[in-house]
Amino acid sequence: MNEPHSSLQPATLITHAGRPKGCKVTVNPVVARTSTVVFDSMATLREAVAGRARHETGLVYGRKGSPTGESLEAVICALEGGHRSRLFSSGLAAITCAILSVVRSGDHVLVVDSCYEPVRKFCVQYLQQMGVDCSFFQPDLSDLKAKIRPNTRLIWTESPGSILFEMCDLPALVALAKAHDNVVVAVDNTWGSGLMYCPLRLGADISVIAATKYLVGHSDVMLGAVTTHQDRWTALADMGDLLGHCVSPDDAYLALRGVRTLSVRMRQQQDTALQVAQWLQKQALISTVFYPALPDDPGHAIWKRDFSGANGLLSCEFRTDVSAQAVDAFVETLQLFGIGHSWGGYESLALPVSPAAVRSLSHWQGRGNVVRLHVGLEDPADLIHDLQTALARLGEGLAG
Ligand SMILES: *Cc1c(COP(=O)(O)O)cnc(C)c1O
Repeated sequence: MNEPHSSLQPATLITHAGRPKGCKVTVNPVVARTSTVVFDSMATLREAVAGRARHETGLVYGRKGSPTGESLEAVICALEGGHRSRLFSSGLAAITCAILSVVRSGDHVLVVDSCYEPVRKFCVQYLQQMGVDCSFFQPDLSDLKAKIRPNTRLIWTESPGSILFEMCDLPALVALAKAHDNVVVAVDNTWGSGLMYCPLRLGADISVIAATKYLVGHSDVMLGAVTTHQDRWTALADMGDLLGHCVSPDDAYLALRGVRTLSVRMRQQQDTALQVAQWLQKQALISTVFYPALPDDPGHAIWKRDFSGANGLLSCEFRTDVSAQAVDAFVETLQLFGIGHSWGGYESLALPVSPAAVRSLSHWQGRGNVVRLHVGLEDPADLIHDLQTALARLGEGLAG
């Protein structure tokens, strides 16, 4: 398999990593569908099983990975700058396995208040019940130092946060964590997807990407990936094996096809999103636009320092006299933005979201209703025209 030099730029890495190597090979790896792998002797079978126990790559049994999956893992690992990557059947499966590879009963976990909501649910509804204490900290880290306990084992963060895209100063977080023995730092890197942000290079121990979003990029596959440095790899890989996590080679292939164009898609979606965000900022019915690439966004300085770009995801807060019902009607008036979960595909989406419902520390009282927009690969002028039409309709409703 091709393993390009890690000094190459991300766009070059995603073009060359994980490809078959040799003379007269196909450009892309084959889709190796299998459960059973057969061997020519007991000696080669035992060799393969022993190699797998030493965490070497290579076919043993379908659940334990496929060559197609290994190609994709190589691409993600090259982007993230880690030791190894492991695929999971969804972003959430990757997250829960990453957490379980670190914590034991009696430990304490600190989770950023702006985390992806199902992560909060997993910690509160499952970890607590299993004897792992869990508390939340502010995305601006103002209370983090005071909340670290002697038994704190894991700090889970996401930068930027879900829904409102608060930037987290990861190098500062790592410095606080590493002042203590034994605190592991894990980051949900779905927003930057390894192309725009590399937490492992900023001192994190574990990075997780919901590949469902930008890596796959076409809204047709569920997939997650965890990448770690060498010292966390065995625990992660063993936990994945213990829980029986695996990914179909067909899904891995689709993701591999998607990731080859990640850099052009994301750059285009960033360009369009910035135009849309700046246009939205000028609209009377919108009070705040949340998008770290905007110069007046509170997280802009950290974004500029730690990220190489943005993506197509932004949120906007409506004036407080715009009701939730009116916001629903606004979203339903849009013609080019689909109503649905997820993001990172080639198509535009709109979804009313509620910061108050998914945060425990931040106060949203007295603020307006929020819509999250995902900007796809459509022409920016068409998207802005669509938004303008729906906003005009909303304004007429308010006046009448
Ligand atoms: C969507 C998402 C996930 C979960 O990914 P799935 O593949 O849907 O399970 C995790 N983290 C973030 C930030 C996400 O947006």
